Amino acid sequence: MTSSGRTRPTVGVLALQGDVREHVRALTELGADAVPVRRPGELEAVDALVLPGGESTTIDKLARAFDLAEPLRRRIADGMPAYGSCAGMILLADRLVDAIDGQQTFGGLDVLVRRNAFGRQVESFEEDLDVAGVDGGPVRAVFIRAPWVEEAGPDVEVLASVRTGPAAGRVVAVRQGGLLATSFHPEVTGDLRVHALFVDMVRERLG
Ligand code: GLN
Repeated sequence: MTSSGRTRPTVGVLALQGDVREHVRALTELGADAVPVRRPGELEAVDALVLPGGESTTIDKLARAFDLAEPLRRRIADGMPAYGSCAGMILLADRLVDAIDGQQTFGGLDVLVRRNAFGRQVESFEEDLDVAGVDGGPVRAVFIRAPWVEEAGPDVEVLASVRTGPAAGRVVAVRQGGLLATSFHPEVTGDLRVHALFVDMVRERLG
């Protein structure tokens, strides 16, 4: 059972690998009930799900090993709101470039995402980015072996692109209905505005 209609949504954080704790903290500060999700029964109980940064290949393998991959695919297809940061963006993508052999995603976002897109030399960098839907000035975007969105379908809204350097113009934040994805990690900066956007999307969905 989900908690439709409540103002305090239950937002799961996929807790197989990655920076789960940071997302739980951000969601809790925003007034959501944030719960780790490792099992199908835990997935059933949430209104929405955050897919954290980490290693998408590991999260994919563990999700299949824990029998979470199929139920998760189904819930996303049924309209459960989801937010993926970095590896989470990869896991929400319908199509990947530079995936490892046999790597699968949960899908839902009509995008082609390139893994480790910024190149090996530029393992991580930071930039202030304007993100559509996020008021109050630019967001400090922290990229760590990050992907980018290489192609986006007609229903995908581009929220932010890289401003400077060799990757200028690359798409790093998108939204499609109840799905949100960023190449960067707002959970590590203490700026809650991207999570707030997502929690608003969840509340909207619950009515
Ligand atoms: N490169 C990682 C992957 O492919 C993502 C990195 C991250 O989440 N910080 O899963």
